[in-house]
Amino acid sequence: MKYQTYERGYTPDKSFESIKEIISEAYHNGCEETSKGKPADYIPELAKADGNAFGISFLNNAGERIELGDVETRFTIQSISKVINLAASLKFRGYMDTFSHVLMEPTGDEFNSILKLDTRSDLPFNPFINAGAIQVVSLLADMFDFEEMLGFVRQMCMDNDIALNEDVYRSESETGDRNRAIAFLLKSKGVLMADPMKTVDLYFRLCSLNVTARSLAGLGIVLANGGMNPFTGKHFIAPNYVRTIKALMFTCGMYDFSGEWGVRVGIPAKSGVGGGVVCAGNGMGFGLYGPALDQAGNSVAAIAAMEHISHLLRLHAFES
Ligand code: GLU
Repeated sequence: MKYQTYERGYTPDKSFESIKEIISEAYHNGCEETSKGKPADYIPELAKADGNAFGISFLNNAGERIELGDVETRFTIQSISKVINLAASLKFRGYMDTFSHVLMEPTGDEFNSILKLDTRSDLPFNPFINAGAIQVVSLLADMFDFEEMLGFVRQMCMDNDIALNEDVYRSESETGDRNRAIAFLLKSKGVLMADPMKTVDLYFRLCSLNVTARSLAGLGIVLANGGMNPFTGKHFIAPNYVRTIKALMFTCGMYDFSGEWGVRVGIPAKSGVGGGVVCAGNGMGFGLYGPALDQAGNSVAAIAAMEHISHLLRLHAFES
């Protein structure tokens, strides 16, 4: 690890050509990291991913793209669906209703931990750990069926080809006892808002949607634009809700590495164990795919690439 500093007065060249060069360097940095991680295997189907794969997709407000590597490979969205579920809950149930059922604190625990939920609080700590996401899905499960939620995901990612990966869904459902345990624990506390089996089934399906790095760049630019699709000008989530989502991505989006990501990269992001990462920068959306993961569950290549990009373009939220 190195500490990134700037020469006095360093002002990045943010021309499209310069961004292209920086992203290309970041891509190469990322490729060099892939051997340091490995694909998730606790959901057996995910272990089949190619650990050497890596892709970056960049999209800006003008609709210009820069893409390198595996940007069209389909992989499952996994925990990045938690961002979209939260967006749906804020849009359709509102802020007060959503946050009277889930808290907004980082945990410092693993994403599927039950520890604090059982000992410290009846409500899950935040919407980006499994307990919190299952709770958020329970707010939606009696309002929307899978097809309706899929439509919402397609809109937010600007990708109409997103569909269920049946093999991952089956694999996840067969091995998802811990998530079922979380749902039943929430039910036993009287806080889950829908039937536990129905809730977990919808949660598994939403984790098993096939996206690409390009779809995640679409999601990133919608979030970067306060909920607006820059191509159509259509707003589908209010900017104040997007502010809330990005704040939670900043504090809780990168598992038990969110604090370090906040220091080293400083861009709201969310990762998933399928190897995807979405980042919502200033007027820039990034989607990354690198299934080789570190201990915390984040793509090793994506971390290296985004650290480089954030540093050279001065994208850190607290840059001065
Ligand atoms: N479907 C996965 C699970 O519930 C999501 C995990 C993740 O991407 O963090 O375990």
